[in-house]
Amino acid sequence: MVVASEIKGELARIQPARACCQRAELAGLVYGADDAAVITLDHATARIAVHLAAALGIPADSSHHPALPPGRRRQAARHHLRVAFGAGEVGEWSWANAEAHDRRAFLRGVLLGHASISFTAHGAHLELVFGAAMAAGQLRAWLAETGIGTHIARRRRRHVVYVKGQEEIATLLRVTGANRGLLDLESRRVGRDVRNRLNRLLNAEEANLARSVAAADRQLQAIDRLEAGGELARLPPALREAAARRRQHPDAALEAVAAALGVSRSAANHRLRRLVELAEDGEREALPPPRRRMRGRSA
Ligand SMILES: [Zn+2]
Repeated sequence: MVVASEIKGELARIQPARACCQRAELAGLVYGADDAAVITLDHATARIAVHLAAALGIPADSSHHPALPPGRRRQAARHHLRVAFGAGEVGEWSWANAEAHDRRAFLRGVLLGHASISFTAHGAHLELVFGAAMAAGQLRAWLAETGIGTHIARRRRRHVVYVKGQEEIATLLRVTGANRGLLDLESRRVGRDVRNRLNRLLNAEEANLARSVAAADRQLQAIDRLEAGGELARLPPALREAAARRRQHPDAALEAVAAALGVSRSAANHRLRRLVELAEDGEREALPPPRRRMRGRSA
């Protein structure tokens, strides 16, 4: 199974051949940043940033000790990598006029620069974090154009764009070229479907068990009533034996009672049902008043 960081690794290994795509990806990497810099914990992301800059002839400066503006200093751990590009060198990049290949490269840069991806029991989770509301809002519109629905939320003073569902995360991975990640996402989804089906089966099994416990309880109550009314002793041996076996195995499934009786499941079922019917008939005729069972079972 691919882990979330490997999706970024996969995206970072894609090296666009054309200058237009290289420029677009670089624009995505620094999208929403106040300074033309990539700040990341991910070595592969820092590497592709340096690589793209080199390919485009843009001076880049990478360091392990980011000189961050005061507000961001606290968030930046020592392990952050910073790749800064020459002021004004990255240049303007416009989504509106971009070709499909460049939009894909741009989104790949955005994912590398801003996304965090995690896998939970409920599926994949993908979010993109920005300092500025405008960057987040604009990206949402572009993603919507790409067929990817998002939610937005504020977390502390950041603006978080969530990609909505598994289908949409899959679309984003497909568009940006994370094919292994996409495959992994799909296989996790299959795994989850199987797990859900298994849960439904287990629930159904529990429901069966509950039904069989409730049936056993009705039978035990019926046997008690028949005994209290003195009818049990007068019943044919087959029914008396069924009653005795049920009392011996109060929680057993029908199959086990049948085995104890040495008869088929349906024969055992028939006898136990007959006991319940006889007890109900007795009640209807208001024969001896039924004694309440004193065992701690509920009906
Ligand atoms: Zn291109």
